[in-house]
Amino acid sequence: MSTPSQSRKIARILVADDEKSIRLGCEKVLTSMGHEITLTEDGHQALRKFEETGFDLVILDLMMPEIDGLTLIPKLLEKDPSVVVIMITGYASFETAVKAIHLGAYDYVPKPFTPDELKIVVKRATEKRFLTLNNLELKAERERTLANLAFEQTQTRAIIDSMGEAVMVINRKQELVLHNPAARHLLRDDGPLTGQPISRVTHLESLPKTLEEGLAKLGGNVQGISREIEDPGRKKTFLLNMAGVYHDDSAKEDLLGTVLVFSDITPMKNLERAKSRFVSMVSHELKAPMAAIEGYLELILREPETKPELFRAKLERCKDRAGMLQRLIRELLDLTGIEMGKMTRNLELFDPHPILSELCELFRPEALKRGITVSIPENKDQYKIKGDRNEVNQIFTNFLSNAVKYNKQNGTVQVNIERSGDILKITVEDTGLGIPENQMKFIGEEFFRVKTPETAKISGTGLGLAITKRLLELNHARLEISSTPGQGSLFTIRWPLATPG
Ligand code: ADP
Repeated sequence: MSTPSQSRKIARILVADDEKSIRLGCEKVLTSMGHEITLTEDGHQALRKFEETGFDLVILDLMMPEIDGLTLIPKLLEKDPSVVVIMITGYASFETAVKAIHLGAYDYVPKPFTPDELKIVVKRATEKRFLTLNNLELKAERERTLANLAFEQTQTRAIIDSMGEAVMVINRKQELVLHNPAARHLLRDDGPLTGQPISRVTHLESLPKTLEEGLAKLGGNVQGISREIEDPGRKKTFLLNMAGVYHDDSAKEDLLGTVLVFSDITPMKNLERAKSRFVSMVSHELKAPMAAIEGYLELILREPETKPELFRAKLERCKDRAGMLQRLIRELLDLTGIEMGKMTRNLELFDPHPILSELCELFRPEALKRGITVSIPENKDQYKIKGDRNEVNQIFTNFLSNAVKYNKQNGTVQVNIERSGDILKITVEDTGLGIPENQMKFIGEEFFRVKTPETAKISGTGLGLAITKRLLELNHARLEISSTPGQGSLFTIRWPLATPG
């Protein structure tokens, strides 16, 4: 590193002497050495000049009017502790010279002196001055660098610590050197961490092997590697980014350690899995009615002379299946529409009773065909809920449709509305097939349908309750289901009242 004082050769020298001949003599000698000279006649003038400009060297006459050389030394050194002072001692007095040196003067030249004597002293003094300045600059530079380094380290540490991603640094012996708070949940909490082998301190079982494989690939052009890593215990998936830290170049043998950054990609992975499960379920569900339609059409085409009644029966089955397909598609569109928040909603305050009564009315004829009664008590009180009328309609259409569909011959469907604190409790109870206990947790999952010999004969998509559940969530309403297989089911909807109290 080059510093200004290292390259300086010319010194700025202040000469203070009341004897003109000495001043001029000094000027001549020192100018011939290439230095810049300022001449002053007394102590006051010298001090003022020094304060104004600053000098590398001061050549001071010991005896001057008003302020003498000895008095001046501490004043000069106070202003610039590294200034080099040379005394000119007229008396060749050894004691005065020692006194001056004690006060901080660097050297002295006794009068009378030859130009060469002065030159030798000035040369040494100049070297001393520049060396001191150089050292001071180096020291300041080192302190600046250290301060910067400490600042950078604290800053880097603060950044790493505030990261949401887990960060670990391991050395080439695969020992943990550093980790941030977010990495805590990937590390054991029973013992020391720093300095321990990573395989001992992490509970990600596959990490050591992933690291080994990754490290084998790092180096040269490969500066970083990404791998997915599972935490089966906590049901999490991380994207692990490994980057090598090298001493100088990125040669393998130069590797100091590895920085590991773990990003939690569990939500993304779950979404991916759910999406592909949904797509495969949709294609599976669409396949059955399509295959049936295709089968009937093939039969018709193969036997064109079939009797008109048989012909018609097959066409009707085709129509049924086409109807099912249409329902499936409509429900799928509903479901994705809700998921993507694409529906237009008209939120109003209204009493749901008239909607529920009308729905009961609508389902009665179909239900009666199997001797099922659908009842709802008369409206006694007025309750207001906040919601979208169409959504309420769609929700209870599904509950009532199921209560009738999954009911037994001569069964009943009972709808009730009652207030429970700030909640409007709406129940739809049936005396139907019920839901087996072990299948209850799947109710409401897309395409889930209870599989029993009885339900196999009942058509449905398994999407109705999935849609209903999402619509209820949108309205902050809660659903509870209780059911006894063979006896019936009770669906309780708790809808917050719009005007509680
Ligand atoms: P779908 O009727 O189209 O199959 P849903 O999503 O409405 O679809 O219902 C999912 C499953 O829940 C039904 O297939 C059925 O097995 C069960 N389920 C729903 N409601 C009832 C009910 N009231 N009684 C018995 N089982 C029911």
